[in-house]
Amino acid sequence: MYDIIVVGGGPAGLTAAIYARRAGKAVLVLEKDALGGQITWSPKVENYPAIPSISGLDLGNLIAEQAMEQGAEVEIEEVGSIEDCGDYKRVQCAFGSSFEGRAVILATGARPRMLGLDREEDLVGSGVGYCAVCDGAFFRGQPVAVNGGGNSALQDALLLSETCSRVYLIHRRDRFRGEEKLVEALQARDNVEFILNASVTELLGEDELNGIVVDQNGTARTLEVSGLFVAIGHEPCNGAFKNLLTLDAAGYVSAGEDCRTETEGVFVAGDCRSKKIRQVTTAAADGAVAALAACAWLDREK
Ligand code: NAP
Repeated sequence: MYDIIVVGGGPAGLTAAIYARRAGKAVLVLEKDALGGQITWSPKVENYPAIPSISGLDLGNLIAEQAMEQGAEVEIEEVGSIEDCGDYKRVQCAFGSSFEGRAVILATGARPRMLGLDREEDLVGSGVGYCAVCDGAFFRGQPVAVNGGGNSALQDALLLSETCSRVYLIHRRDRFRGEEKLVEALQARDNVEFILNASVTELLGEDELNGIVVDQNGTARTLEVSGLFVAIGHEPCNGAFKNLLTLDAAGYVSAGEDCRTETEGVFVAGDCRSKKIRQVTTAAADGAVAALAACAWLDREK
């Protein structure tokens, strides 16, 4: 029986493991793919305090090493469901293993919604990106495109217009879902072009993106861009927890800044939580808060 089982081995889950181990708890981290989470998709991270520049992969590895050096156990397992057994939770994995913990911290993150185009996954980090804040600086002086019509896409386009030579904002409808003020700010930029009623249909370039094909009202147009930022929303990875707690309308775990959920002994950290700012720093911060809350909950009767 573990004191705390952390589901998800990204910055939130691994930071939770570090804090919980330093509080003397027996900790298991369950991760379905590779440790490090979404940040490992970023070619360079230049907004993590005290580390001026590092690849996302290296940053993820460093946090994982630190958690393991502190004594966290790690298993590569996909969690299928979690059962509340009163004094403890049973975590059932997709391929038959199960683990028991007195408390669990959910830190499964969220994945950016993908367009579903051919070679999209292959070109991630080689021109295709999902986070302009993380990767926009690598396209300084170059033409880029943003796809989406919500606040994220509008903000991404504004940010990129500060440094990129040209920004094409592609949206599938004739009206944006995001705020009018952001639309007006973009209209005032002379290096931004709106391409409305349009969809990206093809990614061009072998190993690196060098263009995209856009279908606008049935007419194909090729745009020479070295970056495409896809900002069409996120999908939380919380399906396995539906029986354990209530998810909000978008599928996120509802919890405030204290990272406690409605279910006793269940805490949540990082991008899978309902929150406004989803960055590696805020994920790590959540990990610390959730771990300390879980430790206090475990120690409540001492
Ligand atoms: P969002 O508001 O859900 O917008 C997603 C956009 O992507 C929509 O315009 C949608 O088109 C489009 N879209 C969805 N699926 C698509 C597909 N398969 N192909 C092409 N386009 C597709 O997502 P978001 O912009 O990430 O924002 C998420 C939430 O965070 C929102 O509530 C937003 O207001 C909030 N947010 C707030 C701020 C802020 O500073 N206040 C900043 C960023 C985000 P349709 O419009 O046609 O549906």
